[in-house]
Formats: sequence, C-alpha cells, structure tokens
Amino acid sequence: MANYMNMDTLKFILHELLEMEKLCTLPRFAEYDKDSFNIILDSTKDFADKEMFPVFREMDEQAAHYKDGGIVVHPSVGKMMRFAGENGSIGITQNYEDGGMQMPHTMGSALSFIAQAANNSMPGYTGLTAGAAGLIVSFGSQELKDKFVPKMFSGEWGGTMCLTEPQAGSSLSDITTTAYPQEDGSYQIKGQKIFISGGDHPYCENFVHLVLARIEGAPKGTKGISLFVVPKNRPTDSGSLESNDVITAGDFQKMGQRGYCTTHLVFGENNNCQGWLVGTEHRGLKYMFQMMNGARIEVGLTATSIATAAYHASLQYAKERPQGRRIQSGGAKNINQEQTTIINHPDVRRMLLLQRAVTEGSLSLLMHASMYQDLAEHGEEAERERYHDLLELLTPIAKTYPSEMGLDSVSNGLQILGGYGFCTDFPLQQYYRDIRISAIYEGTTGIQSMDLLGRKVVMKNGAAMKLLTKEIIECIKAASNYDDLKPYAEELKTASKDLEKTLMHLLQFAMKGENERFIADATIFMQMMSNVVLSWQWLKMATVAKTALVTGNMVYDTAFYENKIHTMRYFFKYELPKNLACKATLIRPESLTIVEENKHIFA
Ligand SMILES: Cc1cc2nc3c(=O)[nH]c(=O)nc-3n(C[C@H](O)[C@H](O)[C@H](O)COP(=O)(O)OP(=O)(O)OC[C@H]3O[C@@H](n4cnc5c(N)ncnc54)[C@H](O)[C@@H]3O)c2cc1C
Repeated sequence: MANYMNMDTLKFILHELLEMEKLCTLPRFAEYDKDSFNIILDSTKDFADKEMFPVFREMDEQAAHYKDGGIVVHPSVGKMMRFAGENGSIGITQNYEDGGMQMPHTMGSALSFIAQAANNSMPGYTGLTAGAAGLIVSFGSQELKDKFVPKMFSGEWGGTMCLTEPQAGSSLSDITTTAYPQEDGSYQIKGQKIFISGGDHPYCENFVHLVLARIEGAPKGTKGISLFVVPKNRPTDSGSLESNDVITAGDFQKMGQRGYCTTHLVFGENNNCQGWLVGTEHRGLKYMFQMMNGARIEVGLTATSIATAAYHASLQYAKERPQGRRIQSGGAKNINQEQTTIINHPDVRRMLLLQRAVTEGSLSLLMHASMYQDLAEHGEEAERERYHDLLELLTPIAKTYPSEMGLDSVSNGLQILGGYGFCTDFPLQQYYRDIRISAIYEGTTGIQSMDLLGRKVVMKNGAAMKLLTKEIIECIKAASNYDDLKPYAEELKTASKDLEKTLMHLLQFAMKGENERFIADATIFMQMMSNVVLSWQWLKMATVAKTALVTGNMVYDTAFYENKIHTMRYFFKYELPKNLACKATLIRPESLTIVEENKHIFA
C-alpha cells in the first residue's frame, strides 16, 4: 500500500482539532457537511495512490526539459490536469457562479497536502492554474473571466504567475517588462520572465500567464507595476487560437522537483504579444499579493508534504532494518543476542520524533491558516478583520517554518537510512533535493523574516500580535485543566513572554530609526517566533487528544491520542528550548553584520 501520509492524522486535525464542519453553518459552505468533505478527501487519496505516488520516482528520473521550442514533461501531468479539471478541484474554492465548487480553503489545502505528499512534482501545475484563474475572477473584467477562466478550471489551459526577471527576484520594484497601450484598449507586452513554474508543456492547449509589467511611462518602483493577462495563444473571435508571440526559451535544470518545469519565457520578441490589463493600472502588485499569499501557504504545504512522505519512508525503514543491539544489561556487546531493528535505538527514535513533531505541527499550523482565510473571507462580518490579521501575521511563518525545519526533518529521515539514505535506490535523497527549493521561491527565508518582523508584527500597532497572544492564552487555559499538561502550558506562557520581551528590545532600534539594526537578525526572530507558534499548535493538539482520552470520545485507538501527547512533549523538550539561544543572540549588544560597523570583514 502507498505509504506517504496518514489520513487519520489529517482528519484528526480537520475534524477534531479545527472542527472544520462548523464552517458549514456559514451560508457560503451550506451545501457541504463532514461526510461530503470525507468523500472528497478519500477520492483524492485514491487518485494519489493510483496515479501520482507510483510515478514519483519516475518523474525525477525523466526530468522536464526543453526540446525543439517546447517543454517535455511526464505524461502523468496530462492525466492530472484532466482529473483535476473533471473533479472540479482547480476551481475548488471559487464561487459557484464563476464555475467553482465554493469549498473552504481548508479543504483545498487538505487536498493539496495529500497530492503533494504523493508526488510533489505534479500538483503545482494545477495549483498555479487555480491561483492565476483566481486572480482573474477576483480582479478581472467580465470579458476576461468569460474568455479565460472556464478553460482554466477545466484543466484544458494552464496558468502561471510571472514575476521574476533576471535582475528582479526578491526585489520586484526593479522589473522592466513593459506594456505599451494600444488603441483597442489592450497592451503590447515586451520583456522576459525567468523561473516560471509550469510555463509550458504539451498537455495544455494554451497557457494563461499573469504577468507583472510596467505600463510605458509608469512611476518607478512597486507603485508603477500593473498586472496583465498574457496568453501563450490568444483566442480569436471565431473561437480558434493564434500565436501570441510568447516564446519558451528554455527550462531550468534543477536539483529537485525535476518533474515540475521551470521555464524561461520571452514576451513580444516579434512585437506581437498582446496582453490585457487586470483591474486598474499600477495596482498590479497589490492584486498579485492575493496569489502570492496563497502560494506562500501552498509552499508551506508542499514542504510539509515532502517532509511527511520522507517521515513515512524512514519510519518504514527503521521498523525493518536490523542493526546492533540495545544498550541494556550489556546487550550492545552481547552477540549471542539477536540484532534489534533500528527503531529501538533511542537516537533513531529521537530522529523519528523530530520528523513527526515538525511535520504534524506544520500541518496543523497550515490548516489553521487556511481556516483563518475561510473565516476572514466568509465568516461572521464582525470577526473577519480578526481572522484576516491573524492570517497576515502567520503566513510568513506558515511558509518558512515547514521549509526550513522540513529540510532538517528530511535530513534526519535520510540519516535514519544510513548509507542507503544517500543512494538513489531509496527515495530519501529525492525528498531531500525536492524540499530544498521551498525556502527559496515565493520569497526567501530572509525576505519572509523581514516581512514578519518589519511589517506583520508591527502592523496596526501590533494588533495581530495581540490577537495571536490571545489565542495562545486560550490554549494555555484549556491545557491547564489537565494536571499532566499544566507544566507545558506554563512553559508556553514563559516562552511567549520571552518572545514579547525580545520583540520590545528589538523595537527600540526601530524607534531610534536604526532600521537596519532592527531587521538585521529577522531570521533568528523568525525561528524564535516559529517555535512559540508551533508549541501553541502542539499544546492545542495535545489538549484535544487528552480530552478524547479522558472522555472516551475517541475516533481512533488510544495509542493514536497518546502519540499526539508524546510528540507534544518531544517538541517542548527538544525544540522550544532553542529559543533561549535565539533570545541570547537577539538581545546581545554586538552587531556583526551591518556594513559600516564591520567594513573590513569581507575585504
Ligand atoms: C524552481 C523555481 C521555481 C520558481 N517559480 C517561479 C514562478 O513560478 N514565478 C516567478 O515569478 N518566480 C518563480 N521563481 C523565482 C523565485 O521566486 C526567486 O528565485 C526568488 O524570489 C529569489 O529571487 P532570486 O533568485 O533573484 O534571488 P535574489 O533576490 O537575488 O536573492 C539572493 C539572496 O539574497 C537575499 N536577499 C535579496 N534581497 C535581500 C534584501 N533586501 N535583504 C536581505 N536579503 C536579501 C535573499 O534572501 C537570497 O538569500 C522560481 C524559482 C525557482 C528556483
């Protein structure tokens, strides 16, 4: 049986921890219930088992590549586009009237988690199509919607997000792709975009690129950026397609996610590339943030999924691999005693627990973030701002923690396989290569950390931080009802206060106008805050598990709930204490990285 994720854990988070079905009391989701959610989850798992997981290795070995002006990808990409188009999952969260299924983002994320864990080279093709179509639905004219969205939801046409240019990666204010206004209201587009995921392949008859460009004469910087729909082939009035002068110039060959193409696109080389403005001019980056925020959650999910699949592979190996003897009553040296399987060695168990703590904690955080998005968009009117602010605050963490700690988690999984972990006969090396990109695209860890400290924690005078603290206090209160969880609740209280004190210390630099100093160690602050957020997630899960054990109201066996509490204890013993080191670094007066003070260090 395909073993790359645990449906019970996913359902525990969705139904017992988040009580996702409560969303169905909102008019937006009234047509769904727990059973209908489960049917969709199970059918996606079934498809992933049969069609995605079996080609996971093959897609790596037969990597996407450029050939004769186009991109060759594994034929399974076509199968998945068709499946997603037919079952409606590309438009899963969109309005019924726009051709969507009007399901919660929480469900969209859960389905994505299953698919990404099965084969992370595949779901990006549909995910980006969904995001691109979503931008047109949210901000485009009715004409653009009618022309492009139905074919994207059906999976016949792919979609992409085109931001990056050779000289403009993290800093989008430097993009130079230009849009020249035409008399008919459209624009001629000219420029190059690099690293464009899912930008071309033979299994879609067209690609709809959502392109950031600068209208000729627009102001410099991000305020002069607009958003355009630029198809590879433009639809004519008769319904046929004609070339739109979008040339696929190459495919980047990568260390991981090799089945997922990463294209170099050239727009308007022959001055015949037509684009249509989305919304109003100069507001492109603001619109694109809808897709980018969604994509950040999606990258967090991808990293979580890869690390989860790696955990299951290393767990299976650890259960089967005999090596050495337990250090018990001289057993390690007693060769008359049978070898034990490595899962019985404490150090291997530590590595397995690390993987479980990181992956399940990350999954819980991502599902929380997705639910906050549902409540921000469709919840009670009075509550929307609260959930919006919480989502804004948590998004950089939900992207970064799984990407950074997921890599550590996969590395530990690989370690469990010893020498075999390094060999291509086993999938751990592929998971290790695949997950590495997560900390780079959709805003590097450095950029996410600056966003967290420089914008999110201070926005609205710290309003979002206060909301998060309130959530954490509620969790501490609930956990404190159980004597055996109380010590952990106290530890979280202390860690949360430490975070606050450290933040106050850093804010002094901002107040003095020393902004570079304020932000210089944002990545360490990200680590510290992530550990508090993940501890909150784990304490919440442990409290729900404890309640199930105490009341006997259990969906799964006793061991399932006890394991959740055990993993929470792991997190508090091995991960949360790392915050003491973060705090020491952040409050230490020395500054070692700012140029003026340390001019000579790389001279
Ligand atoms: C496989 C893959 C798929 C991709 N898919 C897409 C896609 O579909 N669409 C798209 O538009 N783009 C895509 N990208 C591009 C991706 O988003 C960029 O690579 C990323 O944003 C980083 O930009 P860069 O590569 O130019 O690195 P740079 O911006 O040059 O960054 C290099 C290093 O400098 C650091 N740095 C940069 N600026 C600062 C700063 N101000 N302060 C502190 N540190 C800084 C960064 O953190 C990083 O460590 C993809 C990239 C890859 C590799």
